[in-house]
Amino acid sequence: MDTHKFEVREIAKRVRDFHRAKKPFRMYHGSSYNTHSSGYNSRTMIDITHLRHILAINTMRNCAVVEPNVSMGQLVKETLKYRLIPIVVPSFRSITVGGAFSGIAAESSSYKSGYFSQSVTRVEVVLGNGDRVKVSCEEHQELFSGLAGGLGTFGIVTLLEVSLMPAMERIEITYSLIPDSGGRDETIAACQKAIGNPKYEFVDGMIFKPPSPIYAVIVQGRMTDESPRKTSPRKDSWFYLHAATRPIETWNSPTYTEILPIADYLFRYDCGAYWLGKLALGIFPCNSVTKKLISPWLRADRIVTALHKAGHTQHLIIQDAVLPIENADKFIHYLEDRVQIYPLWLCPVRVNSISIMQQHPQSADILINIGIRGCPDDTLMEYDRFKTMSQHIESRIGELGGLKWLYPPVFCTEEEFWKIHDLGKYNELREKNHAGLLLNVYEKVRARGKIRKSNWTT
Ligand SMILES: Cc1cc2nc3c(=O)[nH]c(=O)nc-3n(C[C@H](O)[C@H](O)[C@H](O)COP(=O)(O)OP(=O)(O)OC[C@H]3O[C@@H](n4cnc5c(N)ncnc54)[C@H](O)[C@@H]3O)c2cc1C
Repeated sequence: MDTHKFEVREIAKRVRDFHRAKKPFRMYHGSSYNTHSSGYNSRTMIDITHLRHILAINTMRNCAVVEPNVSMGQLVKETLKYRLIPIVVPSFRSITVGGAFSGIAAESSSYKSGYFSQSVTRVEVVLGNGDRVKVSCEEHQELFSGLAGGLGTFGIVTLLEVSLMPAMERIEITYSLIPDSGGRDETIAACQKAIGNPKYEFVDGMIFKPPSPIYAVIVQGRMTDESPRKTSPRKDSWFYLHAATRPIETWNSPTYTEILPIADYLFRYDCGAYWLGKLALGIFPCNSVTKKLISPWLRADRIVTALHKAGHTQHLIIQDAVLPIENADKFIHYLEDRVQIYPLWLCPVRVNSISIMQQHPQSADILINIGIRGCPDDTLMEYDRFKTMSQHIESRIGELGGLKWLYPPVFCTEEEFWKIHDLGKYNELREKNHAGLLLNVYEKVRARGKIRKSNWTT
């Protein structure tokens, strides 16, 4: 804790210097999943990469006290020693606690527990004038609502308290396969049915590329200490291919189950970064041999870094949108008819976020997150097509009362952006908390036009 206090004092000192000199500055925290492009300039950056320690696991209060650059993989590994896990664990091992809180993150337990930020109970922050403040739903609640999902535009988060829940060793997964006939109309209903089943603790799903005998799969999980009766080899190290391949002995049944170690389940999409690995493989054929040979390079962080470095993030769509459940079908039909990027990721989310950047235009208890990752026919798009498609998707999300996650660039104008988010409240809160020298959220996320190679920082 002493080292932590020392590090934070140093960060606060640097912030104070920028504040006195009235110089804009940014925070740099190392690896990042956001796909915005902007230059790195060490003279205007405050580096917080060294804040990556777990300071305490409190088994009485079921919470972890961690620095922001602790990765989800690191946190889960440590909490499992106490048979605990975070209430929401974002899909990739290298997503950081600070990034998931300040950005947006959801996973298959989100239909019960909401966004990752909803599981953070308290944070320590260095404000834009160098003051250090402890913030929670009880203390400085308004500032807390800015920091959660505020993309670091209210200050630098230096410590977080994350809620944990009891865990078991494994997850029993039930795959419900939805056949192609009628699948288009049944998938969201099946998702709704799944979240109403009290037996399970985790629900997500995928819609596959047609023509395929399976239209979609709904994946439900529950914790168990039971060992699998027999361990069969994974059909594919990429979870989406594994989930799409029905074992022969279950051909007569619409569902089948298997048991996986809990961390393998929580990070099941890490290998291959969902299915983006196909594009990162580039000229190599995507088959089991190539995947095995280069599997160490197929972790999500490496794939997303490779896509960034090659400038590919301006040639493929990586977007997530949260929609009211009654409009989810319409959005899926739009994506199938006009966008044709597969698979689609489905993740129900129970939203009760106090974040001012995560207020949904249509209030609803349960929403469906739909994740789009890739390009039509797995072929990188020309920038202009990428831009038009991104704009189109954004408009459709808006028309259907949805909200786009802000980790990819936004293409709408500033005026349109602030029709979705509350500019008055945002500015007032920034002013109150001396955040004026930090980039404003629209400036941070707006698309900056075509660039040859991506140079991205947070
Ligand atoms: C291909 C892809 C797939 C994805 N799939 C999923 C998914 O399945 N589930 C899911 O939950 N999420 C998913 N995401 C989104 C991802 O979880 C979010 O973008 C998350 O915010 C990334 O966290 P990060 O650690 O990379 O931080 P960053 O992306 O670097 O940070 C997010 C924002 O928070 C700010 N920030 C970071 N640390 C701090 C700090 N200490 N103080 C203040 N501000 C800070 C950054 O400046 C940035 O604006 C996906 C993203 C991509 C690119």
